Amino acid sequence: MTVPEIPRTMKAQFLDAYRQPYSFRDAEVPATSSPHDLLVKVDAAGYCHTDATLVAGHFAPNPPSFPHIGCHEFAGTVVKLSEGASPAAKNFPVGTRVGIPSCSFHPCGTCFECTKEAGPDSDAPGYSVYCAHALSIGVDQHGGFAEYALADARQVVKIPDGFSSVDTAPMMCAGMTIYAALKKCDPQPGRTVGIMGCGGGLGHLGLQFATKMGMAVVGVDAADQPVELAESLSTGAWIVDARKETANAVVKELGRREGKKDRGEMGVDCIVILTESQKAFDYGVQLVKNHGTVVVVSYPVNGFNISAMDIVARKISFVGCLLSSNKLATEMLEFAANNGVKAVQRRYPLSDLNRLVEEYHRTPGGKLVVDMSM
Ligand SMILES: [Zn+2]
Ligand SMILES: [Zn+2]
Repeated sequence: MTVPEIPRTMKAQFLDAYRQPYSFRDAEVPATSSPHDLLVKVDAAGYCHTDATLVAGHFAPNPPSFPHIGCHEFAGTVVKLSEGASPAAKNFPVGTRVGIPSCSFHPCGTCFECTKEAGPDSDAPGYSVYCAHALSIGVDQHGGFAEYALADARQVVKIPDGFSSVDTAPMMCAGMTIYAALKKCDPQPGRTVGIMGCGGGLGHLGLQFATKMGMAVVGVDAADQPVELAESLSTGAWIVDARKETANAVVKELGRREGKKDRGEMGVDCIVILTESQKAFDYGVQLVKNHGTVVVVSYPVNGFNISAMDIVARKISFVGCLLSSNKLATEMLEFAANNGVKAVQRRYPLSDLNRLVEEYHRTPGGKLVVDMSM
């Protein structure tokens, strides 16, 4: 393979301060600084809810330093490795197409998270997405709204042949997160899962993943466009409009379908909460059978109220899910490629990022992606 010519400068979209539009201008192509670093030519970059949160100044734990390049879900082609590249980096020679998530860029390798014994879905000791000392691409490290970006070889995923970069980009946050959440539902045929917010970026991928995993799926949303988008996927999931049907009616219908007699044995085995309102949270918890599981993915500023009776008397478990290991991300992308799981997308050129953002706030549903080939 011929080594690509790497220019000294590139185009990038910068955020210069909170609550400002992006500024499209020239920047220096980033230089590698660690043996694990890969320089990637960006092919596609997804816009995530967290980008909007960051621009609004609500992402307090890891404030970026300005000017900042956002985007933490993107796909690209490796164009350069570091001098003295690590074995991890050598797994991705020049020309390899990779998907890049936010976490975990330059983890310390020595803290309790990094050295923890690996579970079935976590990474080998030495690397952890939970390392508090690691940087997050697109948050406190420059991200993918640029022609070139740096990534840590231990965080990236090789893109399966035949799966496009535009299809990969939204998978590297939305896809990874919903896949990891569904893995907490013990996904297997015969199980029923509910998805609150099924017509959003994560939700509409969740409908596809969950049905392809063989589960019976109930998707719930409460606005015209998300409900229409969820129905348009024809996944076989039951799409419920929460404005028209009560949780109790949904539970009774599920009980009827399964031939159950008692209220406590009717409903879904597991519910994934992607929405931020207390009303939607309560609706979702009501759908769960006794002894079921609530997987909380969204984290509204004021939190959620949980009924102690649901925990004590109905024995419902609440678990959280934010990050996905590199191991699970690799499994997710292979699953998506093999099963044709794809985000519904609207594509924009990099120069039109501000128009993309306007559209994001105007029309909910699906994923908005920067396509560098446009
Ligand atoms: Zn995200
Ligand atoms: Zn660490």
